[in-house]
Amino acid sequence: MGMASSWIDGAPVSTAGATHTVINPATGAAVAEYTLAAPVDVDRAVASARAALADWAGATPAERSGVLASLARLASEASAELVAEEVAQCGKPVRLAEEFDVPGSIDNIDFFAGAARHLEGKASGEYSPDHTSSIRREAVGVVATIAPWNYPLQMAVWKVLPALAAGCSVVIKPAEITPLTTLTLARLAGEAGLPAGVLNVVTGSGADVGAALAGHADVDMVTFTGSTPVGRQVMAAAAVHGHRTQLELGGKAPFVVFDDADLDAAIQGAVAGALINTGQDCTAATRAMVARGLYDDFVAGVAELFSKIVVGDPNDPDTDLGPLISVAHREKVAGMVSRAPGEGGRIVCGGVAPDGPGSFYRPTLIADVAESSEVWRDEIFGPVLTVRSFVDDDDALRQANDTAYGLAASAWTRDVYRAQRASREIHAGCVWINDHIPIISEMPHGGFGASGFGKDMSQYSLEEYLSIKHVMSDITGAAEKDWHRTVFAKR
Ligand code: NAD
Repeated sequence: MGMASSWIDGAPVSTAGATHTVINPATGAAVAEYTLAAPVDVDRAVASARAALADWAGATPAERSGVLASLARLASEASAELVAEEVAQCGKPVRLAEEFDVPGSIDNIDFFAGAARHLEGKASGEYSPDHTSSIRREAVGVVATIAPWNYPLQMAVWKVLPALAAGCSVVIKPAEITPLTTLTLARLAGEAGLPAGVLNVVTGSGADVGAALAGHADVDMVTFTGSTPVGRQVMAAAAVHGHRTQLELGGKAPFVVFDDADLDAAIQGAVAGALINTGQDCTAATRAMVARGLYDDFVAGVAELFSKIVVGDPNDPDTDLGPLISVAHREKVAGMVSRAPGEGGRIVCGGVAPDGPGSFYRPTLIADVAESSEVWRDEIFGPVLTVRSFVDDDDALRQANDTAYGLAASAWTRDVYRAQRASREIHAGCVWINDHIPIISEMPHGGFGASGFGKDMSQYSLEEYLSIKHVMSDITGAAEKDWHRTVFAKR
């Protein structure tokens, strides 16, 4: 059993909070026991980040890039350790951790090692005849970031790396149930040569450590990934000080299957899109809307594939679906599913928790759901796909947009004009055509509406962590400028 901790000023530290046990959700067994941080430790971490800021922000892009490139290499060498931690604390199937979470995170680190050297401004020049203007991009400062439990390493990397590349220093709070890979990331960053204090990790619960960090007077920016209600609390806490925020919140992604779609591709895409990470994915396909002519075959095809999904030991490479994150979360998912028939939903398959230890839940398909029903409208965050039919393209797009969320969506069609219309009209930060889920370091991720604002990944996320400064220099050398006439008469 490893002993995790917080990481402040370049070293593991003892903290003032309660003892916490990390549980493997596949077995219910203890994985690690550690002491949580307390608000007093948040103060230490923020002070350390503040003290480290000037040197890191003042390092050359090449120096920052060199450290981040070393981190990418060390993380790659530590892949097996990162995979084992992610599987143990989340119950992720090992195939997913090995092929998605860990290599995706390393690629993101690598991307920001390169991006650190591309802090370009607009052209310097004479936009007035008497002045030269230039643009400086400067690090925002100390960044507080708060992360969720569903992809602990990736969510940490998506926030921390653009901040470091921009020259910011960071204090991150992972979810207290999944701290391990974030602490390993901080240790590896230290080994890579990141100066002490530039990256700090405070482990702890949301109510005390999270709230203390979000509302801290001495940070400059608060970034958050998690649920919509908590994101709004975080924004309110940061607003007290007028701090910049960036929020990646919940989702309820529509999956629109038009009547000319490749049905087999749509069925396989829906199964993969709904079940990835046991459905605990903010972009997961959760609301399938299917053209009437394809509806029955779509429901039957998804049900058949769902029945073949291997649910079990996450360490077995043959396992498709691991457990939900906790027994409490399974109860929430099961509760929503159990209320669906009362609102008209038809449970086609699943809706059951297998016997035995671990918070497992079978893939669940609910057809014929009402538009007003809870399972259609609210985030379930489990291996549950809900399905409705639509009558025509207008109805499909209306249903797709009938949600407060706007994180991701997909449209399935072989008609280029339908695809273009769907990508134009669906209100979401990402629209996939004939696929659902893939992400890539060079391209942005982030939502509209109740899914938040601002971008993770890509050059766009680097911009989140930079302040733009305009420098305007007089080039005339004249004491009496021409524009002075507007303020006082010529002598
Ligand atoms: P959550 O909102 O419950 O918790 C997220 C983080 O906030 C945790 O670290 C938690 O400890 C902390 N927190 C809780 N209360 C707080 C408070 N009052 N002040 C400050 N911090 C507080 O979310 P979760 O259950 O960990 O994660 C699942 C949610 O995250 C889902 O809604 C999912 O859609 C969302 N998510 C979004 C994205 C995205 O990119 N948009 C990515 C992953 C997850």
